[in-house]
Amino acid sequence: MDMDPAQARLNCLQTVFGFAALRPGQEPVMAALERGAHVLAVMPTGSGKSLCYQVPALLAGGLTIVVSPLVALMADQVGALQLAGVAAETINSSHDRQHNIDTWRRVAAGGVKLLYLSPERLMTPRMLAALGKLDVKIIAVDEAHCISQWGASFRPDYEALCRLREVFPDAAIGAFTATADEITRDDIAEKLFGGEAEIIVHGFDRPNISLGVQPKAKANDQLLEILARHRGESGIVYCLSRRKTDETAEFLEQEGYTALPYHAGMDAEARLANQNRFMTEPGVVMAATIAFGMGIDKPDVRFVVHADLPGSVEAYYQEIGRAGRDGEPAEAALLYGLADATMRRKFIEDDGGGEARVRREHRRLDALLTYCEAPDCRRVTLLAYFGEDAERCGNCDVCHDPDGARDGTEEAGILLRAIRETGELYGAAHIADVVCGGETEKILAAGHDTLAAHGSGEGRAKNEWRGLIRQIVAGGLARVDIAGYGGLKLTAKGREVLNGDATFRYRPDRIAKPKKERRATAPAADIHLGETETSLLAHLKAVRLELAKTRGVPAYVIFHDRSLVDMAAKAPATLEEMSEVHGVGEGKLKSLGQTFLKAIAEHGEAENRGAATEQQP
Ligand code: ADP
Ligand code: ZN
Repeated sequence: MDMDPAQARLNCLQTVFGFAALRPGQEPVMAALERGAHVLAVMPTGSGKSLCYQVPALLAGGLTIVVSPLVALMADQVGALQLAGVAAETINSSHDRQHNIDTWRRVAAGGVKLLYLSPERLMTPRMLAALGKLDVKIIAVDEAHCISQWGASFRPDYEALCRLREVFPDAAIGAFTATADEITRDDIAEKLFGGEAEIIVHGFDRPNISLGVQPKAKANDQLLEILARHRGESGIVYCLSRRKTDETAEFLEQEGYTALPYHAGMDAEARLANQNRFMTEPGVVMAATIAFGMGIDKPDVRFVVHADLPGSVEAYYQEIGRAGRDGEPAEAALLYGLADATMRRKFIEDDGGGEARVRREHRRLDALLTYCEAPDCRRVTLLAYFGEDAERCGNCDVCHDPDGARDGTEEAGILLRAIRETGELYGAAHIADVVCGGETEKILAAGHDTLAAHGSGEGRAKNEWRGLIRQIVAGGLARVDIAGYGGLKLTAKGREVLNGDATFRYRPDRIAKPKKERRATAPAADIHLGETETSLLAHLKAVRLELAKTRGVPAYVIFHDRSLVDMAAKAPATLEEMSEVHGVGEGKLKSLGQTFLKAIAEHGEAENRGAATEQQP
C-alpha cells in the first residue's frame, strides 16, 4: 500500500523519534533525498540536520551511509538511534576488530539501515568494493565544509569524498553544513556533486537565544550577574587565553558554581574528563577557549558567555549556537572592551600571512565590532551579515532598551579634535584625560593643557568618554595604530564627521540589569510546573543520570530535558500514556518506558507519604 510521502515522514517521525512535527527546512531536504536527488543543506547548528537524513534512511530502504569526522560524535548518534530502536551501526577504530567484523556481517546481510563511517575508513578500496555490492541508497556527508580549502576546518581526508558520486552513481548524496559563506557552499557543491545539486539554505535565526552585549566594566561582577540568571544550568564561558580560562573556572568555583576549565594546554585525559562531566552532569559551567565546542552536541546548554571578544561574527555565531539547541530559551552574552579589539588587531598583524589576508581579517573584525555597537536590533544586524532579512526581534538587549540609540556627532567631534590636536599619537586614556581637562603629568609634560581640546568635554565623566572612544573606534571614525604605539588615528570617515559631512549614532553605555521578562518573551516551553511536578522532574533527572552513567552515554541520549519536563507534567501511569510524551517513540517506549513509569509511581507514593506525615499534628 502506497502512502503519501509527507504522511510517511510524519509517521516515522512520530513512531520512531517521538516528535510531533517536522521543523521548517527539514521537509524539502528529506523530499530531495527520497527522490534520489543530491542536496546541499546549509542549516545552522541545532536546527535538526541529522533527522533530515535519518528519516529518509528509514523510508528509502537499502543502506544509508553517514560520513562524519568525529568518532565520539558518531558513537553518540548511533547510541541514540539504537535506543530509539533504529538499526544503526558504526565501524571505527574505537571498536576492536571482532566487533567491527560482526557489525560488517549485519551490514552485508541487510540488517543495518544507517552505517556511520569516518571518511578515511569509507574511502579505503576494500570498504568501497564491499559497499559497492550493497544497495546504497543515500550517502549523508556531515560537516561537509571540511571538504573546502576555503573554510577554516579543511580536512584532507574529506577531499577523497569527491569520488563518491562516481563510486555510487545511484545513491543520493546529501551534504550538511552550518557554514554560511557562499564561496564555501559553491565549493562543496562543486566537489561533491560537480555542481549538480539543490542547495537549501535554511534560517540562521535562532529566536530562542536572547542576544546581549555589554561593555566591559567590572568583568567578574558582570559575569556573576549573568550566571545568576542560570543557577543550576549548563553553560559555557569562552575566554581568550588559557590562563584566563583557568582563572575563570577557579573564580566561579569560589562563587559556588561547578566550573571546569577546558583548553588545548591541558593534557588530553584531563580535558576529556572535564568534557564528560559537562556532557553528563547537570549544571556544569565550562570555562573554555575556542578549543571547546566542535562536536559538542549537548542540547540543553542554557547560556554562552563571551568573556572576551570572539574571533569573528562567524565564530561568534557558531559559539553562541551551542546554546539552546533544544529550542528552549537560552542566553548569549558578550563582554567586550576597547582593549579586546586592540588585542585582536594585534593578533591579526602578528599572524601575518600576506597583505590580502590581513586586510580581510581586519574587515571581519570590523563587522564584529559593528555588531557589538549595533544601534539597532542585534538580530537584525547579525542576520544581515549572513544575508538574511529580519524584523526587530524583541529578544535582544537593544530591543529591550527603551532609550535606544542617540546622535553622538557632537561628542565624536570633541574626541576627534582632541585626537588630531595631540598629533594622533595617544591612546584612549590620555585622550579622555585631555577632553576632561585633566592635569596629569603626561598632559603637563606635553603641554596638552594649552590645547583648545583641553577641557572641551567637561561635564561628562571620564568613563563615559572612554566608552565613547570605544564606540567611535568600533564605528570606524578612528582606529588604533597597532604598528605604532597604540595611538588613536583619524580615519577618512572620522574626518567626514569632523567636517560635518557625516553624522554618528551610538548607544550610551549602560550595564543592562537582568530583565526577568526577557526569558518569557522567547518562545518558551508552554508548560508550567507546579511544586509536585518540579520535584518529580528532579527525580526523573536523577533516574536519567543513573541510566546515563551505567550506559556510558550523555544524559540527553536517554531523554532530552524537554521530554522529562513533559513527562513530569503529564505524569503518565501507563505505557500508552507514556507514548504521548514528547520524544518518546516506540523504541524508547520499549527500552525505557517501564523504568520511567516505575520512577513516576515511586515518586507519587513518596509524595503521598510525605503529605500524610505533614498532616499529623
Ligand atoms: P544539527 O545536526 O543541525 O546541529 P541535530 O540534528 O543534532 O542538529 O538536532 C538538534 C536537536 O533537535 C536534536 O536534539 C534533535 O533531536 C532535535 N530535533 C530535530 N528535529 C526535530 C523535530 N522535528 N522536532 C523536535 N525535535 C527535533
Ligand atoms: Zn532585537
